Amino acid sequence: MDQQERARRAAVARKAAGGLATVGVTAVAVTWVDTSGVTRVKAVPLPRLEHAAAWGIGASPVFDAFLLDDSIVSGRFAGGPVGDLRLYPDLDRIAVVAALPGWAWAPADRYDQDGVPHPLDARHLARRETDRLAAEGFFVRASFEVEWAASIGGGDEFVPACSGPAYGMTRLTERSAYLRDVVEALSSAGVAVEQIHPEYAAGQYEVSVAAEDPVGAADTTVLVRETIRAVSQNHGLRATFSPKVLADGVGNGAHIHLSLWRNATGASTRDQGRAGVDAKAGGDDGFGVDVEAGGDGVNLMAGGDGRYGLTHAGEAFAAGILSRLPALLAVGAPSVASYLRLVPSHWAGAYACWGLENREAAMRFVTGSTGDRSRAANMEVKCFDAAANPYLAMAALLASGRAGLADGARLPDSVEVDPVTLGEEHGIAPLPSSLGAALEAFEADTVLKEALGEPMTDTIAVVRRGEIALFTGATPEEIASRTRWKH
Ligand code: GLU
Ligand code: MG
Repeated sequence: MDQQERARRAAVARKAAGGLATVGVTAVAVTWVDTSGVTRVKAVPLPRLEHAAAWGIGASPVFDAFLLDDSIVSGRFAGGPVGDLRLYPDLDRIAVVAALPGWAWAPADRYDQDGVPHPLDARHLARRETDRLAAEGFFVRASFEVEWAASIGGGDEFVPACSGPAYGMTRLTERSAYLRDVVEALSSAGVAVEQIHPEYAAGQYEVSVAAEDPVGAADTTVLVRETIRAVSQNHGLRATFSPKVLADGVGNGAHIHLSLWRNATGASTRDQGRAGVDAKAGGDDGFGVDVEAGGDGVNLMAGGDGRYGLTHAGEAFAAGILSRLPALLAVGAPSVASYLRLVPSHWAGAYACWGLENREAAMRFVTGSTGDRSRAANMEVKCFDAAANPYLAMAALLASGRAGLADGARLPDSVEVDPVTLGEEHGIAPLPSSLGAALEAFEADTVLKEALGEPMTDTIAVVRRGEIALFTGATPEEIASRTRWKH
């Protein structure tokens, strides 16, 4: 980062701070997500934003080695008390958090003191993977679904915020002011909410948002979660995004919708992605009827001569992901609690297969409605949850898809029944049933190792091992309750 860039950032920050002051912002929360999926923060008073934008905010590199209980493992690349990084707020993404009066939020890029991106900065890795795809003429539109459960009061016990039936209008009525405030707060922060509804589990709700570029989608999901957390608090509720709130219930997923597009004009990835803010990848239930075209590009998940209209490239990208799902789980389902969620018959996608609109497949293909498919079609990775660092999840998925493209990978037969009814003789295997098994697959995967780099893969491994050790001998109830308020 040279002096000219610092001066440019300072000028942008000065302008932004002027605008933020007029809407009553006092301070800016600058967040990043650590390896265990916890969003960490440093904040600056508004007059300090300009300095932060030009020179960053000091922060220890130790957080990359934090476990979800704030204990610290020591790895080869993270975990010591020495060193300092600089957090640079991305002012393109700054948003006012209406539910936290006086506060704005911005995601951080982490650099070292010499202005070199930190090798453990997940946001940087997601951008690098986006750029690698762009160099090959592709871009991706993505969105995270956000499921959460709301609990009454501030206690650690989970007390469901509503009692009506799953997906029931009663649940909306019981909490209509709360849900209205969630929609209002998200909309005022510039989040394009597509849908909000009560989910299956006790006290559970869900928000779907429009697709955008991969880094933007990860930023948005951080903002969505922190907004929901704040609105919940304002309503005397506590929100949990934990994979398994109660040991015996249905869990919270963080499904990721992805569509691969080919550049039509050669515009930059970032421009394409920004244009893609209004290009919706199809919501939770894949209706996709409100999808709009965004940017110049061709959706490779539709209009091809492959199964259900997949193009060869779209199929190869999806196949690259599907074939490495066991390894990807170490990134996308990264906690011990993740494996309490990832079980058959809970719509969590516990089987390593894909299928058209199949909610028990780890990868659900969503075409959208006839007439709209060239815009709506996408793959939904269902097996991931919100304990995942969304930037890391995105980087790993893009790298896997890119490897599929390079190999001309093909998808196996699609599965159009509940996979639990098929035996292994059909070639349908359950995904790893423990974090340890996922980690083993991850450590054997050379594509992910190359894409994420040794510092990151090594740190992921030590953090996962640390979390496995943390929960040794714990019952499912203990795992659920000790994880419940961390994500
Ligand atoms: N709550 C389910 C999960 O754990 C997902 C339900 C749905 O398909 O939306 O992923
Ligand atoms: Mg859902």
